[in-house]
Amino acid sequence: MTDAGTTIRERDRLDIGTAEEGACSSTDTMREAAREAGKSDILDRYEADYPVGPHDQPQSMCPAFGSLRVGLRMRRTATVLSGSACCVYGLTFTSHFYGARRTVGYVPFSSETLVTGKLFEDIKEAVEGLADPELYDAIVVTNLCVPTASGVPLRLLKKEINGVRIIGIDVPGFGVPTHAEAKDILAGAMLNYARTEAEEGPVAAPGNRSDRPTVTLLGEMFPADPVGIGQMLEPLGLAAGPVVPTREWRELYGALDCAVVAAMHPFYTASIREFTAAGRSVVGSAPVGAEGTAAWLDTVGDACGIAKDKVRRAKDRFIPAIRGALAAAPVNGRITVSGYEGSELLVARLLIESGADVPYVGTACPRTQWSDPDREWLEAKGVRVNYRASLQEDIAAVEEFGPDLAIGTTPVVQHAKQKAIPALYFTNLISARPLMGPAGAGSLAQVVNAAMGNKDRFARMSAFFDGVGKEHGAGVWEDLPEDRPAFKKKYAALNEAARKAAEAVGE
Ligand code: SF4
Repeated sequence: MTDAGTTIRERDRLDIGTAEEGACSSTDTMREAAREAGKSDILDRYEADYPVGPHDQPQSMCPAFGSLRVGLRMRRTATVLSGSACCVYGLTFTSHFYGARRTVGYVPFSSETLVTGKLFEDIKEAVEGLADPELYDAIVVTNLCVPTASGVPLRLLKKEINGVRIIGIDVPGFGVPTHAEAKDILAGAMLNYARTEAEEGPVAAPGNRSDRPTVTLLGEMFPADPVGIGQMLEPLGLAAGPVVPTREWRELYGALDCAVVAAMHPFYTASIREFTAAGRSVVGSAPVGAEGTAAWLDTVGDACGIAKDKVRRAKDRFIPAIRGALAAAPVNGRITVSGYEGSELLVARLLIESGADVPYVGTACPRTQWSDPDREWLEAKGVRVNYRASLQEDIAAVEEFGPDLAIGTTPVVQHAKQKAIPALYFTNLISARPLMGPAGAGSLAQVVNAAMGNKDRFARMSAFFDGVGKEHGAGVWEDLPEDRPAFKKKYAALNEAARKAAEAVGE
């Protein structure tokens, strides 16, 4: 792994020059195979929806985890994976680690069922066996890398069996850059299905339907946030609508039947396409901090044709409360922010309004027009905003800015801690807090300040372990072990050959 002076252990896959850094498999080969197998239209759409660059593909977990998680969180929805056993093992392990408490269906394959087309028949049979309307509203079938590259044609599945909707999606690691964007693939496919149903005739009314026009909230958020947003919308004569990805099928109709869509997470391109096709307008950013909330209420008010006076009264009610909460929980210190959730810019805004110095924000997600208000606000404050940030760039930012706290993904946090810099995992510790409105103001201060307060402990630990060596020489030795890069290189080559052989038979 090339990096900016990191002490993270280098992988034994050096000098091979075949597999891409951060990718599970030979990306180009798989992509070409998928195109030859008839998946060009899907790959073209993904390339347009989820553009890579200005940097390379970021390093993130298997993208299919994003869509798997969205399906697993929906009531009366079954999920079926089609892919290599090792991928399915990893995905189910991770989903249960995050508390899925739901069965993940799996249709295994061998090289024979893959090349003869029997795999598709097996998937059909599995779906037909599962389609019980007493249990399910929908079944989601996901092609992982190998079935996508082999052209397993999920689009040929019946759209509905016994009244159960069948959604087939391809989520290959070589076409979808992050797991965040895979959430959009499934949410977009479901919205497309629900929109078509609504166009064809009456559909079931959503459970908690407001009698006021609603604002659909696009992007996963802390459960208290929609409640707080609803309170801020109430004086405008509006209500918070469903959060997309939704928790049940009927909410999709409610999400489509809104006054405006708030793209809180700005990378939901396929979902936004469905809302636009349904004639809905979309606004970016989110009500974070005093300035962010004031601007967001203005934007939503404009989009819904609300009288300026009403919007002003709402701001008079909420903005002082937010300012008060921010002032009561100040954050003093320099913080770098990086992550792959898509809410990194919002977190940075909140930290800055809390008093922090944030010189750098890296996000694995792409730049879209929906994050422009946040990007412009941050850049006006001198923040460097880095879309599609790579791990190396995020680590380089920690090196460059020497923060009092690094917020980031696991390897960024690991790097920072090795340098005795306090660090917090974005996903587990920052995303698990309210961000919006008065409840969000000040919510980060406690965890952030506690982490920065640990600086001395890190310094003491660093001093304690000083001189014990690192990498192959870690430990206390009378004779320092000799490093043997030639051995590593040899076994890395053998390992790579074995991986390619396994890939060739679709294991
Ligand atoms: S499905 Fe693709 S990206 Fe995901 S773990 Fe398997 S090979 Fe890697």
